Amino acid sequence: MSQKIPATLIPGDGIGPEISEAVVRILKEVEAPFEWDHQLAGMAAVDASGDPLPKATIESIRKTGLALKGPLTTPVGGGFKSINVTLRKEFELFANLRPARTLVPGGRYEDIDLVLFRENLEGYYAALEHYIPADGDPKGIAISTGYNSRKEARRIVTYAFEYAVKNNRKKVTIVHKANILKLLTGLFLEEGREVAKQYEGRIAMDERIVDACAMQLVMNPYQFDVIVTTNLFGDILSDQIAGLIGGLGMAPGANIGEKAAIFEAVHGSAPDIAGKGVANPVALLMAAGLMLQHIGRKDLADRVQAGIDGAFGAGVRTRDLGGQAGTKDLTDAIVQHL
Ligand code: NAD
Repeated sequence: MSQKIPATLIPGDGIGPEISEAVVRILKEVEAPFEWDHQLAGMAAVDASGDPLPKATIESIRKTGLALKGPLTTPVGGGFKSINVTLRKEFELFANLRPARTLVPGGRYEDIDLVLFRENLEGYYAALEHYIPADGDPKGIAISTGYNSRKEARRIVTYAFEYAVKNNRKKVTIVHKANILKLLTGLFLEEGREVAKQYEGRIAMDERIVDACAMQLVMNPYQFDVIVTTNLFGDILSDQIAGLIGGLGMAPGANIGEKAAIFEAVHGSAPDIAGKGVANPVALLMAAGLMLQHIGRKDLADRVQAGIDGAFGAGVRTRDLGGQAGTKDLTDAIVQHL
């Protein structure tokens, strides 16, 4: 018997509880060593206690240093601040890892295998925002202040290069907009270039301006390998690369810090399909696969991946992939192929 590893489970809201249940079932089938501490956050926590991020949830993650999190609805405009952003800040989860690999053949592209690293703490996600009056309107102009520090730029780019070394990747592309945001993203590029020098001869370095990169990802995604970029650009480009491999239902993410790591799907709570039993659990399941790798159990991550590949190989597809299978059908098929 392997030793149990305490881990926090936040099922989330919307489709969160349905896909979390599917993932926990599959992890149990492969005897993943996690001992789940169930906690609430987001709308589910507001309904239970009025607090979108209860102290018990924070304390649990502080203790376990490891969490699997379902999607959380963030109110648009007003309402409470994004819990996802708050958790990243609270635990200094500086690296956001988002791999994208083709799993279902017959899509727009075959054999995509990309990894994007997004700086997770700074940039425009600092959300330092205010209005100033203009044109007779007290809220005539909205201002947002973004910032990037040399320290975080170095830390995330180093993390991306180290990942490239450990995972036999060939190239890291630094994505920026230093032609316009000369200081904000110029600083990121400057530090990135410095870091890249230490890897010369081992990992190639490449630079792209974000808008050109977005186009090139569609024209010829195969020219990219590992991408590292600032917070907002990373948020947008990672959804784009999810689109290259069959959509958000297939894209996992990990938020990694020195003391804690939180694993999640890239997608949100999908209110349009919540409660219908049709959500694709694969993105959250692959996030659990990243969590298994994080604790040194690549063997179990490989089994989970074999289950996913087997189910897709047998032609089982949820609606987002153009099929008719429900969450339970796909989960059953994955379990059969573990
Ligand atoms: P979304 O990702 O929830 O949904 C976008 C589209 O993709 C919808 O049509 C949805 O049905 C589909 N989709 C998403 N996941 C799917 C899955 N697993 N299976 C099948 N189809 C899937 O994005 P949204 O509608 O913009 O956001 C809804 C809410 O989620 C918002 O409140 C947003 O703030 C929040 N959100 C949370 C996270 C997170 O918790 N990490 C991430 C993104 C968005």
